[in-house]
Amino acid sequence: MSEERDANIQEFKLEPDCELRFEVESKNEKVILELKSGMAEVFGTELVKGKGYVFTTGAKVAVFTWQGCVIELRGKTDVSYVAKETPVVMYLNAHAALEQLRKKAETENSRGPVTMIVGPMDVGKSTLCRLLLNYAVRMGRRPILVDLDVGQGQISVPGTIGALLVERPAAVEEGFSQQAPLVYHYGHKSPSTNLALYNMLVSRLAEVISERMQANRKANASGVIINTCGWVKGDGYKQLTHVAQAFEVDIILVLDQERLYNELVRDMPTFVKVVFLPKNGGVVERSQSARAEARDARVREYFYGLRTPLYPHSFDVRFSDAKIYKIGAPALPDSCMPLGMKAEDNLTKLVAVTPGPNLLHHLLAVSFAASVEEDVIQSNVAGFVCVTNVDMERQSMTVLSPQPRPLPKTLLLLSDIQFMDSH
Ligand code: ADP
Repeated sequence: MSEERDANIQEFKLEPDCELRFEVESKNEKVILELKSGMAEVFGTELVKGKGYVFTTGAKVAVFTWQGCVIELRGKTDVSYVAKETPVVMYLNAHAALEQLRKKAETENSRGPVTMIVGPMDVGKSTLCRLLLNYAVRMGRRPILVDLDVGQGQISVPGTIGALLVERPAAVEEGFSQQAPLVYHYGHKSPSTNLALYNMLVSRLAEVISERMQANRKANASGVIINTCGWVKGDGYKQLTHVAQAFEVDIILVLDQERLYNELVRDMPTFVKVVFLPKNGGVVERSQSARAEARDARVREYFYGLRTPLYPHSFDVRFSDAKIYKIGAPALPDSCMPLGMKAEDNLTKLVAVTPGPNLLHHLLAVSFAASVEEDVIQSNVAGFVCVTNVDMERQSMTVLSPQPRPLPKTLLLLSDIQFMDSH
């Protein structure tokens, strides 16, 4: 037994500027990371010496050191190796350039850099966002993270876009603290499903953030880091240029793809600085199923927590008390539309949903809008519940909810995203 445990302890001595990469793949596996000596960071968050950081199945981690260090891993890793070649110095240079712009904004009391990170799937966009935000907050800045990647969703759950004021470095195992995020319900895992709605929400989010920055001098000078979807071709490219326009971005960091870089250099106005950055060789490509699993894990974490457990509530809601809508009616050809309406208008229309078995396992967004008279689609959401049971006989449904019991008559918005509660 103890022999087996010993076999699962690995020690790594890292030279300066090196990175230890490891993955936890086996089911129900736990790997504990400990910094024994020296200094090291995980995606820009400094490790505390002697503290055990716990990583579970699905984790793909890099521990980088500027000064050199000794690291211990306890538990079964499926991959673990030290890499000498990393682009982290280039990422640090990008951070330094942003910091110059923040200093300038601070003295001039103007807006700090709004930076957008683009690239195909699995090139480390989210990771670079996290690194840049961590470095900024470690310098005393208060930058805003905007996440437009509806497929994964670092903020809230998949199927949403949102923003977060970053006030402290990301927790090593759990990421950024989610206090009072600004969240908009989109409802699908790809922007392509309803591009009209996606673009509308992006514009709305940009507007609200601009207002909030004007009211918060520190955040204003610190700027924004925008994470985007990996959909970069055709309409995907157009969607990216819309984001750039809506947020009036100053800088676009293009990860990995030269073609995308060249297109953006060609199409962006000259005051937008487009910068190419290589991807980190350690970034792991995820299969379709790994991505679905990550989505699922994100929803589970939303309800149940990760390191710090959360205790969600479960209760029944009568159909007669629920006002459920979805956004977007099936598209009709323009010729079938009432005079003066375009087919696209249908995609951003509120449609009442008749409750029934169709709701089972779906997430429902709890809107801040009190009635359909308000602009429900462009209102942000308070959070999500998940339908865990539908009882047609009693005309009610059971929902899982982070909150005790939402106000009766709450407006709920149906999401495509499903979650099987196995607790
Ligand atoms: P994208 O946002 O472009 O889809 P992510 O930033 O989410 O990519 O990275 C994909 C996966 O690779 C994540 O699980 C992340 O933790 C992992 N990863 C990122 N950088 C490294 C690295 N240097 N070494 C090992 N794994 C990494």
